[in-house]
Amino acid sequence: MRTNLTRLAAALTGLLLAGCSGAEPPRAAAAPVVPAPVPAPVVPALAENPSMPPPEPTPSAYNPLNAEEARVLLRKGTERPGIGEYTDLEAAGTYICRQCNAELYRSEDKFHSGCGWPSFDDEIAGAVERHDDSTLGMQRIEIVCANCKGHLGHVFHGEGFTAKDTRHCVNSISMRFVPKHEPVPPKIVLRSR
Ligand SMILES: [Zn+2]
Repeated sequence: MRTNLTRLAAALTGLLLAGCSGAEPPRAAAAPVVPAPVPAPVVPALAENPSMPPPEPTPSAYNPLNAEEARVLLRKGTERPGIGEYTDLEAAGTYICRQCNAELYRSEDKFHSGCGWPSFDDEIAGAVERHDDSTLGMQRIEIVCANCKGHLGHVFHGEGFTAKDTRHCVNSISMRFVPKHEPVPPKIVLRSR
């Protein structure tokens, strides 16, 4: 009997333990609900992403100019004829503004005028502004870079050099030549302008 009672007690204990352990699953079943809040941290993570890329660079200045470049570009000076590095250049490429990198002229529009300065019979659309210039006792049309207003030279009409009958007489020192297969540096646009 003692053995039977012992067995019975053991069986009852087993049932009780089973009952206790049986009560656990509902708690365990509730556990999967916990992951629900997980998406919440995703929102701030996404919100932080836009700040991850570096901020856009804001140009604060144009390309630095040496004394001679500043004399021509900023104070409307003129390069002596025949000394400009691009006067006789025939290579294919683009002429950009030395001060702000704006694309000004294409080599396809360049021609030999014999005047001693680089000559073009057309500009890249919108790249050049014209202003009346009555200095030196002459009525001329000054041309400046439309972006930075740097002095480029003068434009003349009616000389018959090319079919377009136009000659942009441009100081080499106001420009920089970029060969055809080289990347053109980005134009510098100051926010204040
Ligand atoms: Zn410019």
